[in-house]
Amino acid sequence: MTVKKIVTYPADVLTQSCEKVTVFDKKLEKLLNDMYDTMIEFDGVGLAAPQIGLLKQIAIVDIDDESGTIEFINPVILETSGEQTGPEGCLSFPGLYGEVTRPDFVKVEAQNRKGKHFTIEANGFLARAILHEIDHLNGILFTSKVTRYLEEHELEGLESE
Ligand SMILES: [Zn+2]
Repeated sequence: MTVKKIVTYPADVLTQSCEKVTVFDKKLEKLLNDMYDTMIEFDGVGLAAPQIGLLKQIAIVDIDDESGTIEFINPVILETSGEQTGPEGCLSFPGLYGEVTRPDFVKVEAQNRKGKHFTIEANGFLARAILHEIDHLNGILFTSKVTRYLEEHELEGLESE
């Protein structure tokens, strides 16, 4: 088990676009396993490669539901619809939470750790988490989308991405 250090804001690596992954090897598998360990250690529901200092199009999401851990390599958003507004946090902004409006539905095409292409459709909080992580791969931080920051008493039980 390897827990990586989380890059916190401000850092250049958090605001740059990531490169496509072209090699699907043991090193990538190890990286994904380390990202999982890191996400769990810091109680996150998602983690993107720039958050551990790597400009690669790799993100994982696990909101602790029946979907389990979803690994996204080179993800592309195919479709979004609807709208949801809710609280959001980010492991790169410890203790900061704000309300963010995002699509309520997303359809994404990506590759898994073996390079196999898949598509996934998600609603609600899972869609929010996936969209938050894909934003990271484009150097977009949730703070650019916050409409209202939450006060301390509003924070109970919230998890970061
Ligand atoms: Zn984040």
